[in-house]
Amino acid sequence: MKYPSVKRLPKFEYLAPKTIGEALSLLSLHNGKARVIAGGTDLLHKMKRREEIPQYLVGLKNIPGLNRVDHDEAQGLKFGPLVTIHTVEMSPLVRERFPILSQAASTMASAQVRNLGTIVGNLCSALPSADMAPGLIVLGANLKIAQDKGERTIAVQDFFTGPSESALAHNELVVEVQVPNPLPHSGMVYIKHTVRAAMDLAIVGVATIVSLQNGVCSDAKIALGAVAPTPMRATKAESLLRGKPFSAGLLREAAAAASEEARPISDIRASAEYRKEMVRILTARALNGAKEQIK
Ligand SMILES: Cc1cc2nc3c(=O)[nH]c(=O)nc-3n(C[C@H](O)[C@H](O)[C@H](O)COP(=O)(O)OP(=O)(O)OC[C@H]3O[C@@H](n4cnc5c(N)ncnc54)[C@H](O)[C@@H]3O)c2cc1C
Repeated sequence: MKYPSVKRLPKFEYLAPKTIGEALSLLSLHNGKARVIAGGTDLLHKMKRREEIPQYLVGLKNIPGLNRVDHDEAQGLKFGPLVTIHTVEMSPLVRERFPILSQAASTMASAQVRNLGTIVGNLCSALPSADMAPGLIVLGANLKIAQDKGERTIAVQDFFTGPSESALAHNELVVEVQVPNPLPHSGMVYIKHTVRAAMDLAIVGVATIVSLQNGVCSDAKIALGAVAPTPMRATKAESLLRGKPFSAGLLREAAAAASEEARPISDIRASAEYRKEMVRILTARALNGAKEQIK
């Protein structure tokens, strides 16, 4: 495989709106020619590789309040489009109530990239291996999306439409991530499999959330990364678990079903067969780990 050559940044004009309304007007005015920039860790690389050549970059940093993390018992967790990977990794609230998110954030990139890069930028880049996607999917998170004509909400699960493709139009802005509180008696785990310990994209990512009532699995969700054109739910595996006593045999059955559901390709990082086998192993490990957390 020929690695794409990296050049200097192409010329662009940087626009710095002070309100969301202003940002939306600029995106509509320059529809298709403008891109939103958050941390820039992904977009600037794409521009240097000439995969994207926007004439305008709409920066969000002058808009107050976009790095807020809020939580309440009724509505759960809400965070803005400038919340960084580092913030989610380190937030005591996220660590305690939504540990799968801080766990996923901690597996990403380097400290420098985590300081700049945002959770929303990770989703909007829409890589099948995006580390924040599987955890947000099993938590049932939604994205609030705005354009100058109004707002809509979409489940993170439905946001991805293909490799590097999402349901977002060029004149739209993700303005909030909404994460409902997990059910009581739940445990959750994200496992990322890479060859190197750091600075590597996932070969396979597995997120699970399990809820138990008196030893019976009342709910289970499994999401997989890097094994299909988009992050995906393993719904057959989930349905095997629901309503049944949580046993080692059941867990093995569900892990095998998840592996069957995965649709990986072979590429420079791993073969499809290897990825399928790793889905089986890591799903079993993640389910077991999630169960162990339940008090
Ligand atoms: C060295 C290195 C290592 C990396 N390692 C990992 C890794 O381990 N795992 C992983 O998943 N990723 C990794 N990445 C990819 C990248 O860093 C992350 O995806 C990061 O979260 C992107 O966030 P950002 O804020 O920098 O996005 P940006 O580069 O600013 O934007 C990315 C895309 O999202 C769009 N966008 C951003 N915010 C919004 C918004 N609010 N509304 C609409 N569109 C928006 C932009 O227009 C652009 O298309 C790595 C990148 C580098 C350079």
